[in-house]
This record gives sequence, structure tokens and C-alpha cells, in this order.
Amino acid sequence: MKNKVKSLLDLSDSEICEILNKYDADSYRLNQINDWVYSKYVKKWQNMVNLPKDLINKLESSITLHPLKEINCSGLGSDTAQKFLFLTSQNNKIESVLMREGSRTTVCISSQSGCAVDCDFCATALMGFKQNLSTGEIVDQVLQLSNRSSSKITNVVFMGMGEPFLNYKKVVESAKIINEKIGLGARRITISTSGIVSKIYLMADERLPFKLAVSLNAPSDEIRKEIMPITITNPINELLKAAVYYYSKLRRFVTFEYVLLDNVNSDEQCAHHLIKLLKNIPCKVNIIPYNEIDSQYKRPKSKVINNFVRILDDAPFTTTIRWSKGTNIDAGCGQLAIRD
Ligand code: SF4
Repeated sequence: MKNKVKSLLDLSDSEICEILNKYDADSYRLNQINDWVYSKYVKKWQNMVNLPKDLINKLESSITLHPLKEINCSGLGSDTAQKFLFLTSQNNKIESVLMREGSRTTVCISSQSGCAVDCDFCATALMGFKQNLSTGEIVDQVLQLSNRSSSKITNVVFMGMGEPFLNYKKVVESAKIINEKIGLGARRITISTSGIVSKIYLMADERLPFKLAVSLNAPSDEIRKEIMPITITNPINELLKAAVYYYSKLRRFVTFEYVLLDNVNSDEQCAHHLIKLLKNIPCKVNIIPYNEIDSQYKRPKSKVINNFVRILDDAPFTTTIRWSKGTNIDAGCGQLAIRD
């Protein structure tokens, strides 16, 4: 039996053309294959019914179509969130989440299996780092969830497992494929980072059209260091300079994510400090009440959350409160982790 080396999703169009050529197939077959994969989300080579049978058999014996294998799905039948567990080609586990709210259907995807950044409040951090995902493994999450979704995917967020900027090249390649081949608008694709300053500059210099979200989570380095050790090498003042640079280059606001943790970053003083910190920065702020995992951190009481948000109402930037979907199946923001 021949060895299936790569997945189709990790091959460029010219590499696929070379393979078609080797099998004496016309190059227009590439468009047919791309249509089946990126528009019709087929799961099997045999479903590509307008390809000749012998070509399908040759392709099937040499190239894997989907690099990820679904091994579990929780929340089936739920109309708000479903969580999918996949096995990568290196036998590591990752999770992706399908969320619905009104007319939006969002896919939250992973860029790594596990994560090395070690944010103290995050379930993924407990896994340690396992692997960077390939471009195909990232794109496949969107394709497989599109196949399973009853509604069309409207948004993709790189907010699942991993720090996207520590797998920058593959994340950017996959975002371009999601945009160009799957056809999702660039402004509907958000790349989220724990705050790796050098890559924010790079994203601005490369004029990438995708949205950028940065996990700020504290109004001072002192508090941020306690929950995000990455602050030691990427302090808040450097993050803010990068956000200003990003705006100056692209005329797009950075969104700062702020996970509200009880007795850590959620008191009135923190809210006022946050306004002072960001008042001259072109940005938006998303407040995310913490989704509890098995850790020392707790979600603040509703009164504290509402008070924090009310204070921010007076800020010159826009603030939105984001209640995560799928917390009942551990699919909320910061809850993704594989428990072996
Ligand atoms: S919050 Fe993000 S960057 Fe931080 S440990 Fe979790 S997955 Fe990694």
C-alpha cells in the first residue's frame, strides 16, 4: 500500500496541478476539486462525482483529503454551541467550537495543540505545548465545521487553543485560504494574540486585511504579570505603541479583550485605570466575564460585572460585553483543554 504523505489541504494549487499532470488528468480538474473541497465541504474523494473514477482512485490512494479526524462532538442538538474534538496527523488533540447567535455563525479555531504561553487562568495552558498546526489542519477545522453546520459560517476567530502568533506563518496562510478559497470576508476573520508585540508590527507592515484582537486583561503590568507571564517580555506600554502603529498603518482599531476575574482585575479602580490607559488609543474593548475552569479564579458577581461595564460607558472607546457561548460544554473562551 502506498504511503499517503500529505493532505490535499497542505498542497498549493501548483503542487496539485503537478499531481494531476502525473496522473494524465486535465488541469481544469483542479477547479473541480477546489469547488468540492472549499464550497461543498465534501468529506470523501468518492463524493467528487464529476471526476473520472480512475482519477478519484489514484488521488484517494496517494493524498489524504482531510488531515483532521473528528473523534468527538459535544453539544449536539444545541442551538448555541457545539464543540468538536479532532486528532491531528501527529496524534495530538485539538478542539474547535461552532457558535450561533442570531444571524451569526462563528467558528472558533485552534492554531496549536496546547499552548506554551501559560496564562494562569486558561485551561489550554494546563496541557503544555504539543505542536503547531499545519495550514491544512487549521483550514480543515473551518471545512469540517462548515460541513456539520446547518447555517453558513459568517465569522472565524483564531481564539481556540494556542497562541496564533507563535505559529504566525501557518496562521496567515490559513487565514488567506479561508478568505480567498472558502470566500469569507477578511473583516470576518479575527486573529487573536496574547500580546506578542513584534508580530503586531509585522501584521501591520504586511498590511494583512484581517481583524486583530489582543488579550489585555489588566490595566497595569503589575496585575497582568500575575495572570499573563508574557507581560514580562511584552509590557503594556509596548503593546499600546504597537496598537497605535497598527492603526496608523491600516486605519483599523485593535480590539482589546479583557477577561474579568473576581478580585484580580474587576474592581472600580481597575475600570478607571483602564479608561486612563486606553483613552488615547484607537481601539475597542470586549469585556468577557470569566468562564470558570478548575482553578483558583472565579467569575465576578453580576453586580461587579455590571458596575465595571457601567464605568467604561464613560470611556471614549466602545465597550462590548461578551458572554461566551457553550460554557456548559467547556467550550467558552479560555476553557478549551483536553483532559486525558
Ligand atoms: S489564553 Fe491563549 S495564549 Fe494564553 S495560555 Fe491560553 S491559549 Fe495560550
